[in-house]
Amino acid sequence: LMGSEFVNAPDRDFAVAAEREKLAAGLAEVRTCFGQTYWPVVGGKARRGLPTLSVPNPAEPGTVLGALGLADAELADEAVKVAHTAWLSWSKTTPEARARLLGRLAELMEQQRSALTAWIVYETGKPWRESDADVSEAIDFCRYYGRQILKLTAQAQHRDVPGETNGYHYRSRGVAAVIAPWNFPLAILTGMTTAALATGNTVIMKPAEQSSIVAAQLMRLCEQAGFAAGVVNYLPGRGEVVGAKLVAHPQVHLIAFTGSLAVGQRILAEASMVRPGQRHLKRVIAELGGKNAIIVDSDADLDQAVVGVVQSAFGYSGQKCSACSRLIVLEGIYDVFIERLVQATRSLIVGNPAQPATYTGPVIARDACERIRGVIEDAKGRHRLVLEVDVSHLGEGYFIGPTIFADVDPQSSLAQEEIFGPVLAVIKARDFEHAIEIANGTSFALTGGLFSRSPRHIAEARERFEVGNLYINRKITAALVDRQPFGGFRLSGVGSKAGGPDYLLQFVEPVTVTENI
Ligand code: GLU
Repeated sequence: LMGSEFVNAPDRDFAVAAEREKLAAGLAEVRTCFGQTYWPVVGGKARRGLPTLSVPNPAEPGTVLGALGLADAELADEAVKVAHTAWLSWSKTTPEARARLLGRLAELMEQQRSALTAWIVYETGKPWRESDADVSEAIDFCRYYGRQILKLTAQAQHRDVPGETNGYHYRSRGVAAVIAPWNFPLAILTGMTTAALATGNTVIMKPAEQSSIVAAQLMRLCEQAGFAAGVVNYLPGRGEVVGAKLVAHPQVHLIAFTGSLAVGQRILAEASMVRPGQRHLKRVIAELGGKNAIIVDSDADLDQAVVGVVQSAFGYSGQKCSACSRLIVLEGIYDVFIERLVQATRSLIVGNPAQPATYTGPVIARDACERIRGVIEDAKGRHRLVLEVDVSHLGEGYFIGPTIFADVDPQSSLAQEEIFGPVLAVIKARDFEHAIEIANGTSFALTGGLFSRSPRHIAEARERFEVGNLYINRKITAALVDRQPFGGFRLSGVGSKAGGPDYLLQFVEPVTVTENI
């Protein structure tokens, strides 16, 4: 297992009819499950009788997918106690046993791939291909962190000298609060959860309100895989109530968060406090936003660049922290490129993500839709609108068509603030030097891209483009576990890269033991 190279789980190939049929069957099957209530699971028991929140399908908000039982602060408190008790025995399990359970979880995900994908499509409005990739990534995280914990254990070092032995090893930290976003509803939740589990911590999953049914599926699979009661707990609820309680709790040791800069900052501040009964400092891993740029050089292969930009900016309606929201085009090809980009974008099919041909579905929720529409309306008065797609025929869903503004001032708020929607700001650069300067001119440093055929410019970008993940001549989204460890710096977050070799180190305490003999 450890000698061999890691192999990513393959995505489904929907060009093959049989593969399409499998997901169509999954979508039909999941439809028959609409209307259930998903209660918190603490210590292996469903906690019923709480207030509920109904979950709409963002593509057709009239369709209710189910309801969430909302955990309150009291249940959050109990969950931490339960997870702490479970940690006392879970932390004593061997890395091999934990890796085996994670492998089992991956297998279950593979077996139930169609239903999982279908839930992602319905609950988060993510089109087929990307919902499917979400499942692949979740499978990868289970297997990758299972391998990594074995590696980490094998690397425990011994430095013995005459008269003295020295051992260096890792221990788990305790209860981990995993606060996850809705945009990769299975993958990111699974990634943070499995990292904590692999390293011997117990987990309280607090999924985003907008993707808590997908999270309930993960909880169910964890139970099926055989994790003991209390090792993984599921706590849907309001962030301000449940998330806040977990972050402040004196018995939580570790907070793994992926989400907005605003919430991340609050978590870092709250978690820095030592409260009565707390005998440790909390570790916070926070993956936050981006305002990612792609530079299109004057000698770029424009066909390749158009495809890469379209996918990066409008895949899942731009609702990825890795998405391209700034496009920096060199003067010489500026007008030509915009024209081709607009044409290509116009051809994207916007519609219901349950339909296989849909490229762009709805945005996640009514409030997001209103906020993004507001940004677009405001930008119309300030920048040159070059594409807006009419989506009024799509009915009640939270649809926003791909939108492109040109001649955008790099210092304007459109070019500086994360929108998390299908809105692209095009900026003109005088030369390559200017392009790099614009690209680096934000507070974020997550992903970035360059389309160029100039070896000198490529070399320069490698050195000077300040981002956590730089992509050359390809799209800037869809990082693969192990191949492209993912994460940024500056305001894009604290912590080392998800799906990378250093990630698990954040979930452990290193210990040195010296014996004088
Ligand atoms: N890892 C994802 C990607 O490479 C982005 C994760 C996120 O949006 O939080 O596209």
